[in-house]
Amino acid sequence: MKALNVALAGNPNVGKTTVFNALTGSRQKVGNWPGKTVEQKTGYLKHKGRLIKIIDLPGTYSMNYFSMEEKIARDYIINEKPDVVIHVVNSCDLERNLFLTIQLLEMGAKVIVALNMSDVAQRRCIRIDEEKFSRLLGIPAVKIQANKKRGIEKLLDAVIEYSAKRIEPKIKYDEELETHISKVEDAVKKYLDIPEKWRPRWVAIKLLEKDAEILEKLGSVPNFDIVSEEARRNREHLRSVYGKEIDTIFIDAAYGFISGLVKEVAENLHQPEGFTDRIDRVVTHKYAGIPIFLAMMLIVFSATFIIAQPISDAIGIFFSDILSGIVRENLSAVGAPQWFISFLTNGVINGVGSVIVFVPFIFMLFFSIALLEDSGYMARAAYVMDRIMHKLGLHGKSFIPMILGFGCTVPAVMASRMLEDRKDKIVTVLVTPFMSCGAKLPVYVLIAAALFPRNTDIVVFSLYVIGIIMAIIMAFVLNRFFFKGLSSPFVIELPPYRVPTITGALIHMWERGWLFIKKAGTIIFSVVVFIWFLASMPFGVQYASEGSFIGLSGKVIAPVFSPLGFGEWKISVSLLMGVVAKESIIGTLGTLYGTEITEADAGFSEFLKTLFTPASAYAFLLFVLLYIPCISSLATIKREIGTKWMLFTVVYTFTVAWVVAFGFYNAVLMLGLG
Ligand code: GDP
Ligand code: MG
Repeated sequence: MKALNVALAGNPNVGKTTVFNALTGSRQKVGNWPGKTVEQKTGYLKHKGRLIKIIDLPGTYSMNYFSMEEKIARDYIINEKPDVVIHVVNSCDLERNLFLTIQLLEMGAKVIVALNMSDVAQRRCIRIDEEKFSRLLGIPAVKIQANKKRGIEKLLDAVIEYSAKRIEPKIKYDEELETHISKVEDAVKKYLDIPEKWRPRWVAIKLLEKDAEILEKLGSVPNFDIVSEEARRNREHLRSVYGKEIDTIFIDAAYGFISGLVKEVAENLHQPEGFTDRIDRVVTHKYAGIPIFLAMMLIVFSATFIIAQPISDAIGIFFSDILSGIVRENLSAVGAPQWFISFLTNGVINGVGSVIVFVPFIFMLFFSIALLEDSGYMARAAYVMDRIMHKLGLHGKSFIPMILGFGCTVPAVMASRMLEDRKDKIVTVLVTPFMSCGAKLPVYVLIAAALFPRNTDIVVFSLYVIGIIMAIIMAFVLNRFFFKGLSSPFVIELPPYRVPTITGALIHMWERGWLFIKKAGTIIFSVVVFIWFLASMPFGVQYASEGSFIGLSGKVIAPVFSPLGFGEWKISVSLLMGVVAKESIIGTLGTLYGTEITEADAGFSEFLKTLFTPASAYAFLLFVLLYIPCISSLATIKREIGTKWMLFTVVYTFTVAWVVAFGFYNAVLMLGLG
């Protein structure tokens, strides 16, 4: 059998040479690295019948390509691909040492972490749960004390066992960074013919970093320009979003990951607390963590409302009063047919306008959420939620897609890919639609502002919270009845806190907000036209009357919603259209009630007061929060977990929504509060 090729890596002074001696005894050979003046030590040993060749790499702090030592170590790992790399770390300086572990893993090395100096650690600095460490990183970790040869046997056992296994290290940075790494990685896989031993993801990271050596090696490979351009685009994007240079982004991401890991697996015995630690102690506190999270969200909503409301009002006046009026007058003046005027004003302007007025809310909300994300707080929120979810037997990582669900269910469902376990993934996908996506916000705002003018923000906030609670409850239930078994643990990246950059938040806000505007301009426009058409047919019928097509079909489904307090057929139609896109609920109401409103001449919001009672309004909002996700989401769900589960989603979300709205409405009536 071929000798196993094992390399020793580590920072200087961590005890690498001591480990090397403990492993090989006197069977060692000292020479130089080919063409270099750096000493190279190799040695042989036999363990459990296997011949093992050990090579001592020069001590380095990272795997850049700057010093001679770094070049030797990196070239060896990348090009020789040793069967196993033992990374010797000084347990007392865990965080700094793990930076190299991350780099080794990114390079595709099969790493075993040898937690050295365990004697000093135990006495003076840190208590490490090696098993948890190894589970979280997905690689073996062994505590050793090299100068006393403690743990060396175990280390060798791990080498032999591990050399036969395949690994995929569990390193994940934040979603934003991961998304852009993946884009470049896809381009690398698609276009570049890279050496077989190189890991495409590593190449992608190096291209993003503009690593001089990789640029030189790959510069003349066919198609390099395409990939390099892709890397440039993503680099620029990251740079503007994070507001810092790409090297710093990766360094911070690695340390964020490390600090999340260390927080989970180690207990620092007595180390001075830094700024981040002190804040973390409060915001990730066992009991205070959740109230703090809720308070943060409440602040976000209040701020959103205070700023967005006046802008939105102005846009509303523009659409319904000014634009509508101008169009009507001018078209009448030139003798345009009545149906066409109705189409433009009732259909297009009222319909699309009623959606556009929510753009300020969407933008403000996304802006605030981006600030929370960029400051590092959202990661802590995930950490806090993780603890609860874990207690319920759920996967804590599920909370990350769920938080993304605040923006839009589609990327949230896609983010569930980060869950390795299929069961965890299905449960996460199934509950993500309960999170209030940006498109539901307009519906909340419209109804809440009309029916609860003094507590609009509280009402909207309550819906967001109920969404989270329902998602957690349903995840628990689904887990209980459909799946059994435990979830795999993971590391939540805890980046250091920093002052978020305004540009970064603006870019995020724009990216997400623009999607909303595009949707308003395309899907919602089509829905609105479609509704207008159905409301005007058959020919000659009064617009949006019960005799119109839409009236007839609305009346068929209306009885389903009567027990929930909103049995008007126009509302039923709007809910039906909401499955196309949630904002269409508003667009549809705008289009269908458009004529009545102008006649009543008191504005949409006054009009809504005649349509809903506070009780039925809140029941309606609960229903909108929980019922069937939009078709884009359903398509994504189908792609991620299959048709069967997609259909299941339709049925069960509808059921849950109906039951909750029914329960709420009737409880309020029974209590005599409605
Ligand atoms: P290298 O630079 O990584 O090759 O580190 P060395 O092997 O030269 O070790 C540096 C120092 O740490 C030496 O004095 C070792 O005796 C000491 N050392 C190595 N391992 C341990 C350990 O597990 N515990 C303690 N207390 N000292 C150790
Ligand atoms: Mg040495």
